[in-house]
Amino acid sequence: SPYVADAARYEKLPYDRIGRSGLRLPRISLGFWNNFGSDRSLETQRDIVLRAFDRGVTHFDLANNYGPPYGSAEEQFGRILHANLRPYRDELLISSKAGYDMWPGPYGDGGSRKYLLSSLDQSLGRLGLDYVDVFYSHRPDPETPVEETMGALATAVKQGKALYVGISNYDPEQTRAAAAALAAEGVPLLIHQPRYNMFDRRPEQGLFETLLELGVGSIVFSPLAGGLLTNRYLDGHAPAGSRAAEGRWMTENNLDETYLSRVRALNEIAGARGQSLAQLSLSWVLRQEAVTSALIGASSVAQLDDSLDALHAADLTTDELAAIEPLAVD
Ligand code: NDP
Repeated sequence: SPYVADAARYEKLPYDRIGRSGLRLPRISLGFWNNFGSDRSLETQRDIVLRAFDRGVTHFDLANNYGPPYGSAEEQFGRILHANLRPYRDELLISSKAGYDMWPGPYGDGGSRKYLLSSLDQSLGRLGLDYVDVFYSHRPDPETPVEETMGALATAVKQGKALYVGISNYDPEQTRAAAAALAAEGVPLLIHQPRYNMFDRRPEQGLFETLLELGVGSIVFSPLAGGLLTNRYLDGHAPAGSRAAEGRWMTENNLDETYLSRVRALNEIAGARGQSLAQLSLSWVLRQEAVTSALIGASSVAQLDDSLDALHAADLTTDELAAIEPLAVD
């Protein structure tokens, strides 16, 4: 029988305004960097996506080169969208990005107008969409004038191929320059996508402050440090199928004594709050005023459910924050 979304889906989680825009994001959003390539089961992917939507997650984050292979996460998501979510397109915020290597030669990487606009057309083709809700410059390209990169984002908006634009991995100074270049084109900078978690606190050194001042929202990626800030590796081993076991961006070498002593202590703090470690990690990033949404990954419905339950937790107390502080270091 055809999928029908849970009628109570909008009573299940909070939505926050993105900076000074008219748009709101669920406090937790779902990303497709890992676990959504064509090398994995489409049925598991469908279960995760539909479960997320049933629980009020309206935002799905993609990029041109998510897979593997590159492009296949957009294709898999496009399949699910067209088979199951077609009636709900106007309830969804779908983002994509260009900026890292995508195709061979000088025009398949970086921040040129040539790369960004042709990549966006390719992404729309794979997704089977006329427009994305947010199109990002995936990383700054110091060899391209920021006016060119932001001009390409503004063109995407003027062509109706993106409703809003964002930047990712830009430092505070690059962020100010990008916001100014976009303003000159009459297009506001909606959102920034930085990495932020208990093991990577760089955005606290000026970026969050800059975003609050500019009225730009933020959606922070890898809030669980790719699984390191969950119960996945607490016993010091990488279970079969996990990111560390498969050597995707991390290995068992990441699970050293320093790591284990920190996460075991964090896990105790989580337990005292009645939370899983993943939930504590999400409560911690979401405490920041500048953070609109935490952008998680999941390889199963059980992980997704566990992470989304973080939104039922009480705020962290001053004492809990103080206990976390010495453990939340690179
Ligand atoms: P996370 O830090 O949320 O890590 C997700 C991984 O953690 C899962 O794949 C799973 O590992 C494990 N996990 C998730 N939930 C739980 C749970 N409740 N209990 C135990 N383990 C859990 O985020 P990602 O690194 O996946 O990044 C999230 C998204 O952010 C990406 O999909 C992408 O959209 C975006 N991103 C953007 C970047 C950019 O440059 N702009 C760069 C990186 C990410 P396992 O798969 O091993 O089961």
